Amino acid sequence: MAQPAVSFTDERLVGATITLTNCDREPIHIPGLVQPYGFLLCLSEDTHRVVHASANTRQFTGLEPADLLGQGLETLLGPARLAEVVALYPTLTEAPQLLGVRLEHAADRPFFKLILHRHDGLLWAEFEPVEEDEVSVLNLPALNATLTQMLGATTVLDFCQAAVAQVRDITGFARVAMYRFAADESGEVIAEAKRDDLDPLLGLHYPATDIPQQARAMYLKNWLRFIPDIDYVPTPLVPVRNPASSRPPDMTYAVLRSVSPIHIEYLRNMGVAATMTISVIQDGRLWGMIMCHHDSPRLVSFELRELCLFIGKTFSALLHTKEKLEQSAYQLRVQQTQAHLLERVSTEDNFIEGLYRHTPTLRDVIDCGGAAICFDKEVIVLGDTPSEMQIRELVQWLQQHVPDDVFHTDSFASLSPLGLAMRASASGVLASALARDTGDYLLWFRPELLQTVTWAGKHAKVQKMEDGQLFLSPRQSFAAWAQTVDNTAAPWQPLEIEAAQKIRLHIADVRLKIFNELQARAASLSRLNSELTRSNDELDSFAYVASHDLKEPLRGIHNYSIFLLEDYAELLDEEGVSKLKTLVRLSQRMEALIDSLLQMSRIGRLDLEIQATDMKELVAGVLDLLHPRLEQTGTTVEVRGPLPTIQADPVRLREVFNNLFTNASKYSDKPTKHIVVGQAPAGKAGVRGATHPDDFYVFYVQDNGIGIDPKHQESIFRIFRRLHSQEKYGGGTGAGLAIAKKMVEKHGGELWVESVLGQGSTFYFSIPKNI
Ligand code: ADP
Repeated sequence: MAQPAVSFTDERLVGATITLTNCDREPIHIPGLVQPYGFLLCLSEDTHRVVHASANTRQFTGLEPADLLGQGLETLLGPARLAEVVALYPTLTEAPQLLGVRLEHAADRPFFKLILHRHDGLLWAEFEPVEEDEVSVLNLPALNATLTQMLGATTVLDFCQAAVAQVRDITGFARVAMYRFAADESGEVIAEAKRDDLDPLLGLHYPATDIPQQARAMYLKNWLRFIPDIDYVPTPLVPVRNPASSRPPDMTYAVLRSVSPIHIEYLRNMGVAATMTISVIQDGRLWGMIMCHHDSPRLVSFELRELCLFIGKTFSALLHTKEKLEQSAYQLRVQQTQAHLLERVSTEDNFIEGLYRHTPTLRDVIDCGGAAICFDKEVIVLGDTPSEMQIRELVQWLQQHVPDDVFHTDSFASLSPLGLAMRASASGVLASALARDTGDYLLWFRPELLQTVTWAGKHAKVQKMEDGQLFLSPRQSFAAWAQTVDNTAAPWQPLEIEAAQKIRLHIADVRLKIFNELQARAASLSRLNSELTRSNDELDSFAYVASHDLKEPLRGIHNYSIFLLEDYAELLDEEGVSKLKTLVRLSQRMEALIDSLLQMSRIGRLDLEIQATDMKELVAGVLDLLHPRLEQTGTTVEVRGPLPTIQADPVRLREVFNNLFTNASKYSDKPTKHIVVGQAPAGKAGVRGATHPDDFYVFYVQDNGIGIDPKHQESIFRIFRRLHSQEKYGGGTGAGLAIAKKMVEKHGGELWVESVLGQGSTFYFSIPKNI
């Protein structure tokens, strides 16, 4: 077992008055005093003669210390018992050995338990009186049940609860509690078995200073301390100092060792009259203590104390397993919830929603009070968290001060003044950065420890004694402890920090996958696009070549038909002339069709000549040209509102307007035909609607004509698609709208129609503001 290298005590304080100011150096292992419920003899290792006797021997044996000093144990024991004891001498160590003895030479031959051990160059013989009605305590079935219960516990807290309950059952103490030390050496009552009428101490915290270092060092060596009556008057050793070492003998392992008066005062203030404490030691470190308290004096037999010690040692031995069990269970829980959550993140359309829409949420992965998801400028909170404002400030702070991907603190208030305001819910912060520059973070919060500690007395006033010294009591202890943990949360465990890291990496993977998919999609779109452009170009050049080459023979057919009509008309009968005329008309019609096709294919092949174009002027020009036709058909045109100057190819736009105006005047059966032209109000979007309407100028040409059936509103834009026969409404080739559409699209805009059959049509086209 590790022995402390430093001495925390001051031997000069032997026999001095111990106060709150010097108690931290009190040499508690060499008090030179014993508790008087038994008596003690120290024998020389060599001579086996008494070197020290406690001053109270007379009370138990009828002999004064002076009568015993220099004598062997034969003064007290009969020969048979003496032989047994003497036979034990060579085997003695620091571990006590027990014998039942009768003081043959004392008047009423009382019965004692003799507890023997070897330490500090002495053989220690401690005599504890035995009650006559004491029964045997080794109840094996009960012990078996105790062990079974302790073995079955799956959490450390259950394990502690089982241990304290058993110790209380065995000893009958009014209160048995498990007191656990934290890393900062402060303590907390984590399990308790008590008589109903007592106030609970569960959850109570004590500052490290409540148990001085030298006491902790001693608790590591001597596992069990016992004070059956705190109101005892300490009995000195005679002589106090060992003649060989000139100091009192080292009572570290003595059961009768008298304890510090400060400790006694502390117990008295707690209303405790008898106490027993058992160390819980793990890896040579004091993990905690089983504390037993009673409100009246209570003598617990050595055997029962040994049994409790057995439980304490078994507890210590099993503790590691229980802690591991608990840790693995928690780890498993964290991993399972994490896996669940990440699966959602991977399958949800919007991966961020996978973090909070279903249970388990991000908050459930780790033990915490609350969590927040800061993503895409939004803050989503889960559970108990600071306000959204505070979270945004925290994220800013993280962006500025923390270069790491994962950050954790159990006291954010100690790092930033921001932390003070949010300490109630977020003294502890665990942050996982998804993207630092954009402020995308996952956050977990833990409340200030003090907020989670429940104890009725925690807000009570600190009491002071008359001389101004603090009055020692659990309440004061709590207040002292509270000061040391202000603004602090329970620390984040490595496995929790690891989980935060894993979630971060997984989300980064998901984002990368989404990004890659988008990129792949964009790449395939652009490939398709260029293929489409290429085949469009090919089609255009095919149409151009074909129509160009067709024109030549067609012209010939046309010309020869005219010649025939002019030169041979009289040789033909009427029917022959009529057929020739049809041939001329058909060839003309075919030429018109071929011209349209040529025009159409040319648009694809020619580049636009973009320039500043005053639309008002442009529209006026087109109307000027169309004036005779409009007048002829009785059409009035209104230019509504101002028209802007835009960047466009004016030649093409003129053709677009020309076509729209011509159609508007053509496809009407009203006696007064009316056309309105203007710029559409802001926000008018094209049918594709993929781009923002603010990025386009939209113009319209509205008529009060025949309108278009919704089922044809798309097909009219296809080449050679006509809704009416040639004869009706003086129809054209059916290429006008297709050409106009292609011109608008060449600009990057759209051409579409809104119309109600019989009520007129409005044709819209958009031209991008930035060409
Ligand atoms: P066309 O040269 O035959 O006018 P377009 O391509 O310009 O060919 O028009 C295609 C068809 O769309 C027309 O045949 C007509 O039926 C219909 N159309 C075009 N403009 C209008 C309009 N303003 N009102 C009603 N129908 C229209």
